[in-house]
Amino acid sequence: MFGEGILKGLAETARNFLGSYVSKNRLTTVQYPEERLPQIEAYRNFPFLVYDGEDWQQGLRCVSCFICEKECPPKCIFIEKSTDKKPDAVGKPQFYPKAFNIDVSVCMSCQICVEVCPFDAIKMDTYYELSSTNRFSGLLWDKKHLAKSNEHYHKIHPTEAAAVDAQLAAERAKTAAKAKAAAETKSAATATAPTTPPVPTATEK
Ligand code: SF4
Ligand code: SF4
Repeated sequence: MFGEGILKGLAETARNFLGSYVSKNRLTTVQYPEERLPQIEAYRNFPFLVYDGEDWQQGLRCVSCFICEKECPPKCIFIEKSTDKKPDAVGKPQFYPKAFNIDVSVCMSCQICVEVCPFDAIKMDTYYELSSTNRFSGLLWDKKHLAKSNEHYHKIHPTEAAAVDAQLAAERAKTAAKAKAAAETKSAATATAPTTPPVPTATEK
C-alpha cells in the first residue's frame, strides 16, 4: 500500500514515545557524554601495542619485524627498527621499535595489522573519543601513545585476550621443552664420547 512504510515508522515512533513514560527500554536517546552505552566485546576501532609487565618500554611485544607496516592497506604505520637488542618482559634479548607511529587519520580500522602480526603485539582498541584540535600531529600516535598493557587488553576483549595468553604460554612451554631436550642430548653425547688418547711425546716415539 502506498505510504505503508511511513505509517509503520510513525507507529514505531509513537510506540517509543508513549512507552518511554512507562518503560526505560523505550528511552532510545542516550545523553552523551553524561551517559554512555555499554560497549560490546566485539567492538573494535584503532590498533594499540600490547606490553607485558609494568614497564611499557621493556614489555612491548613488538620486535619491529615490519610485517604490519608492509601489509597495512593505506600505509599508515611507520616503524623504525632498533640497531641493538634489549631484554623483553621475559628477559629474552629482542629488537624493538625505536619508533612506531600510526596515522589514525588514515587508518581504516581494517584489523589486517592484527591478523598478520606473528607476535600478538598489536590489537584493536575500543577507544573512540579521538577528536583533536590538530588533525596532523594530534592524530599521528607514537609508541608511547599506542602502548597499552595486557591488563587493558583483558579488560576490553577478555575472551580473546585469555585465548592469546593461553596460546603464548603453550608456545613458551614448547620452546622451553625443546631447549631442555637439546641440552639433555648434548650432555648425553658428551658423556658417551670416547676420550682422546694422549699424544706421545718426542722421547716416547
Ligand atoms: S587497522 Fe588496517 S589501516 Fe589501521 S593500521 Fe591496521 S592495517 Fe593499517
Ligand atoms: S606489531 Fe607485530 S607485525 Fe608489526 S612490527 Fe611489531 S611484531 Fe611485527
